[in-house]
Amino acid sequence: MTRVLNAMTIDVEDYFHVSAFDGVVPRSEWPALECRVERNTDRLLSIFETAGIKATFFVLGWVAERYPALVKRIAAAGHELASHGYAHRLVYDLTPAMFRGDVRRSKDLLEEATGAAVQGYRAPSYSITPRSLWALDILIEEGFTYDASIFPIHHDRYGIPVSARHPYRLHRASGELIEVPGSTVQWGPMNMPIAGGGYFRIFPMAWTSWGIRRINREEQRAAIFYLHPWEIDPDQPRLPCGVLTRFRHYRNLHVTEARLRRLLSEFDFGPMQAVLRRTFSGPVSTAQPAPLPYLW
Ligand SMILES: [Zn+2]
Repeated sequence: MTRVLNAMTIDVEDYFHVSAFDGVVPRSEWPALECRVERNTDRLLSIFETAGIKATFFVLGWVAERYPALVKRIAAAGHELASHGYAHRLVYDLTPAMFRGDVRRSKDLLEEATGAAVQGYRAPSYSITPRSLWALDILIEEGFTYDASIFPIHHDRYGIPVSARHPYRLHRASGELIEVPGSTVQWGPMNMPIAGGGYFRIFPMAWTSWGIRRINREEQRAAIFYLHPWEIDPDQPRLPCGVLTRFRHYRNLHVTEARLRRLLSEFDFGPMQAVLRRTFSGPVSTAQPAPLPYLW
């Protein structure tokens, strides 16, 4: 059985950019807050260097604008740069024109920093849902070749539970795009998220290991893992918030770095583009268009 290459992806944003804090910290106050994203991202770069793996960094334009040297360091270390939008606004809260401006600004900033074309996009909080599918056409028109914004689960802020669980080609009026869903395991009629963020940090580590092993061995497919730099920073300033956000954001921050190092020793990881090259041209090719859910 061949070992499967999984995608390691990082959404490069700071602790105060998180959507759950939208009503707590106004955007106008962002510049006044203590920024920790640079040191936390550098720490991730060092963890990946030690483990000998390359990853994809979906960088927020707001961060790229303030830390162009960090963007250059990510690229110089051989990682892939991709876009997380500019201002961390939920896609379904934007007009199409506002969304186009936001993604174009973020793509331009990253491409100016390194000179390399940006191929991938991941929406803040996976906010491409049935209300914002128009965004896919704009991504194609703006030159993106893949999107990683549609999570096939039920969640209060995001998700299209009926959408496909593994990467597939999406055909839209404006062209073609590869969609890369967040990883899940199927449990009866449910898709259970297993590979990243709070699902990695809050649940026991065994949940993620079991899930990735199951996707790799039983389905012979790649898992798409994601994490944020603030998730390995237990000393970040505490922001005032409700009980649910406090649990989701601060739970187990102190164990996440050790878990990540362990995960890197248990599985093979690479950047998104390497995974997609294997998925769409390797022996487990799914080059034929996937059956599209009714929403499309
Ligand atoms: Zn984000």
